Amino acid sequence: PGSSSARVRRTFLDFFEQRHGHRVVPSSPVRPRGDPSLLFVNAGMNQFKPLLLGTADPRSEMASYRRVANSQKCVRAGGKHNDLEDVGRDVYHHTFFEMLGSWSFGDYFKEEACSMAWTLLTEHYGIPPDRLYVSYFGGEAAAALPADEETRQIWLSLGVPAERLLPFGLKENFWEMGDSGPCGPCTEIHYDHQGARDAAALVNADCPDVVEIWNLVFMQYNREADRSLRPLPQHSVDTGMGLERLVSVLQGKRSNYDTDLFSPLMDAIQQRAGVGGYRGRTGAADQGKVDMAYRVVADHVRTLAVCIADGVNPGMSGAELVLRRILRRAVRFSVEVLQAPPGALASLVPTVVHILVTHPSPLWPRPPIIDENEAQFLSCLQQGSRLMDRTLHRMDRQQAFPAAVAWSLHRNLGFPLDLLELMLEDRGVGLDRDGLERLISEDNQKRGSEPSSSSQSQVSLDVLSLAELQRRGVPHTDDRHKYAYSL
Ligand code: ATP
Ligand code: MG
Ligand code: MG
Ligand code: MG
Repeated sequence: PGSSSARVRRTFLDFFEQRHGHRVVPSSPVRPRGDPSLLFVNAGMNQFKPLLLGTADPRSEMASYRRVANSQKCVRAGGKHNDLEDVGRDVYHHTFFEMLGSWSFGDYFKEEACSMAWTLLTEHYGIPPDRLYVSYFGGEAAAALPADEETRQIWLSLGVPAERLLPFGLKENFWEMGDSGPCGPCTEIHYDHQGARDAAALVNADCPDVVEIWNLVFMQYNREADRSLRPLPQHSVDTGMGLERLVSVLQGKRSNYDTDLFSPLMDAIQQRAGVGGYRGRTGAADQGKVDMAYRVVADHVRTLAVCIADGVNPGMSGAELVLRRILRRAVRFSVEVLQAPPGALASLVPTVVHILVTHPSPLWPRPPIIDENEAQFLSCLQQGSRLMDRTLHRMDRQQAFPAAVAWSLHRNLGFPLDLLELMLEDRGVGLDRDGLERLISEDNQKRGSEPSSSSQSQVSLDVLSLAELQRRGVPHTDDRHKYAYSL
């Protein structure tokens, strides 16, 4: 169909490649290469940072890039751009999403960038202009940054009515990659899902009726380590549009989870759930957080599959620790809220791959090891939860959860400590961390320098075997999809 996610992605890349001479380049892996300022790739521009800064090796291929477009795998679950807490609560923030991007490195600037974006949205995708709002940088006196009046004039000349052109401050309309790195004023396009009344007040208001779809950043500065702004050697354009949000607009859905990027996955989760189906699309109230659990599980299993395929495995520090947390959240929502059986999570991965890689392969068996390991973890989860509840029952409300019990849960049952903390958090109880750290270091001393072992490794194993599965490969019969995926 005209607005399948695959077609939407292709239309974007074709528009920039064929009509405007951009070179389509592959997505980089979600693990940032040689950039310690980032946990995960959080935007399409990450891989082009050296170009923006003017530090690219002149012999590298990148040095010749002037106009580029791609579809980038992004993960926002840590660091400056962290959407983990929003996932599942709303219907348009994911931990993993695809960002459709276009760039000009010292080539065209504001006028062409705005004009291309407007033409693509309104003429090629056919979005009615009266559903769109545009925000621009309104200036920030304290930071001595002027309003971007030039951009406002450009939008007016493209036919955007003045009442749909809205100024915002640093937080919304000055994009920064991280605590340091390239940055600049931006202008964003927002879509009004309702279209019934004046919705200007709902722009940037965390309202599901009006959702930001495309950000056009005019890279002009580098944020230095001392927080000052250094002008960049050349002006560049960096744009990014969330594929899932664009597809929801073009498929006439209010929720990303109701588009073809998610609905087969929601159905697969429903088949495994021991509770009622997903009711998110009916707008009914979410009782017992069931709908939220559906969304969390769908989101997290995508993130796990993509990260593991890119070599980030659940582990003990940095991005790996974040991924471990995501895995455990997914298992917990899947088991405790959706009452899905052991192995359910792992069994969803083939569906993820079918959705993300347009030519699915029949070579996607379910290796039994996934079920075994998940089952082990689940029995540990159940025993641990029982022990935790019994302890809580005997405790004072104000008390911190005793370190000795936490340690015993961890040491004897292999109960993951960060999961324990998460579950305690839900119940409004803190953990005696100092006490716990003492116990851990005492134990480490007793056993020499050997790191404490636990069934944490089992949990990682579950997903490692998924990675194996993915390594067996899904054939890329369509070259274009190599750009988006290396699953
Ligand atoms: P929001 O204000 O909705 O959190 P953002 O301003 O943080 O979005 P940008 O950094 O401007 O997002 O990223 C460019 C585009 O990527 C956004 O306009 C949006 O379409 C998409 N996007 C950003 N974050 C997410 C996410 N967590 N899930 C899905 N799409 C996203
Ligand atoms: Mg955001
Ligand atoms: Mg925003
Ligand atoms: Mg934005």
